[in-house]
Amino acid sequence: MQMQSFGAAGTVTGSMHLLTLGGRQLLVDCGLFQGGDELERRNHEDFPFDPAALDAIILTHAHLDHVGRLPLLVRLGYRGPVYCTPPTAALAETVLLDSARLQVEGHRQDLRRARRQGREDEVLPPLYDEEDVHRTLALLRPHLNFGETVKVAGVRVTPERAGHILGSAYLILEAPGGRLLMSGDLGNRESGLQLDFTPPPAVDAVVLETTYANRTHRDWAGTRAEFAQALRDSVRQNGKILIPSFAIERAQTILYTLKELMDSGEVPRIPVFLDSPMAARATHEYFEYGDELIPPVRDALRDGEDPFRPSTLHTVPTSAESQRLNRYDGPAIIMAGNGMMTGGRIQHHLKHHLWKPSTNLIIVSYQSPSSLGGRIVAGADTVRLMGEDVAVRAQVHTIGGFSAHADQDDLLAFLSTSGTPHVWLVHGEVGVMDAFLPVLAGRGLKGDIVPDRSPVDLLGAGFKDGRPPGLVVPPTGAAGQGEGGE
Ligand SMILES: [Zn+2]
Repeated sequence: MQMQSFGAAGTVTGSMHLLTLGGRQLLVDCGLFQGGDELERRNHEDFPFDPAALDAIILTHAHLDHVGRLPLLVRLGYRGPVYCTPPTAALAETVLLDSARLQVEGHRQDLRRARRQGREDEVLPPLYDEEDVHRTLALLRPHLNFGETVKVAGVRVTPERAGHILGSAYLILEAPGGRLLMSGDLGNRESGLQLDFTPPPAVDAVVLETTYANRTHRDWAGTRAEFAQALRDSVRQNGKILIPSFAIERAQTILYTLKELMDSGEVPRIPVFLDSPMAARATHEYFEYGDELIPPVRDALRDGEDPFRPSTLHTVPTSAESQRLNRYDGPAIIMAGNGMMTGGRIQHHLKHHLWKPSTNLIIVSYQSPSSLGGRIVAGADTVRLMGEDVAVRAQVHTIGGFSAHADQDDLLAFLSTSGTPHVWLVHGEVGVMDAFLPVLAGRGLKGDIVPDRSPVDLLGAGFKDGRPPGLVVPPTGAAGQGEGGE
């Protein structure tokens, strides 16, 4: 039972794990690296395996950092099946088409800029285009349903609810030699929208996400109160409230919470601009799959209500309309992507408002330390935005409880029913994973940090102290300064 990780090893994005089980090669997730130029350059590296030799791919959920390199794999020759749950297939279509559009547009912009500098040879080609995405979508097999065992390339696989976003699953694989659990991303049990993860059965090895393995989120009531207070304070200052948000799950959680807070009178009814066509499209899927959501949301959907529509909501379809918002006077809430502020429409809103003391920036998602959002959270005085230096004078609120990710208590609760598995850590900053090792040891569990690219035997002895050779552990406190999470 061997695994090689080509992403989300020592970092939280780019999830891609190659499993070799009884001679079969299964790839679990095929995500994009996100969060700054340095990480994103890794998207252009060659795949360290032959895509055509894979037996099958399984997707745990539709976030871009778990599916975003799939069209590239198809472009390079993969023609086999891609298994996922039905909501993951539906959301993956929205996510991948948007990603292709960004790839092509980004490339066009880079090329224009590089031509002026006489450096057009240095511009990397787009990773893929819409045509690659359509070929990819044709390979999707939405045959995974929670609790039902299926055979994937001869391996018995049981998906279970992960409680992270719509359709998100963790996987139990019956491999020769033992049972393996691949966690994908696990949900925050205090999250406002999704039902909790299903407690797992006993297994021999767990590959565990660790985005927030070093912290505890505030409970939901506390998070809601903190958000309401930040909104009321912002309204008093009569400025703009910017909420950078990922389009799937976070955007819907924020819309649902805004509607509740405005309907109950806890927050004044000011205009809400959802400046994210992708978030608007993704919201439609929530109407299809309401059974995965907490009872009040599910029941509202069954009654034909729209729990994601505050009465003052405006959606902003075109980028011209998005630009016009810059001239809008008076207080308003603007939700736009992307969540780490490294691109997308949020950038021009930041350029127009980040330097004003009356602006409030409410951060509800994980910010990788190298991203623009990470630098703002770390207290930068100025940041580079669309070719200009912009002062950070806005008030910055970080609300961690909106995270869609399990915190340390959630992860330990998840492990508590899984027997005494060997725990392999992925999808976390190195410092966070390192701090989690003694916590696992305290529970009598052997933990190991999964190395980048090198193969590991998931049923083997692991590493001394849980650290693979050559691993550099940053000093305590240097990692995981973001909040929220994808
Ligand atoms: Zn995710």
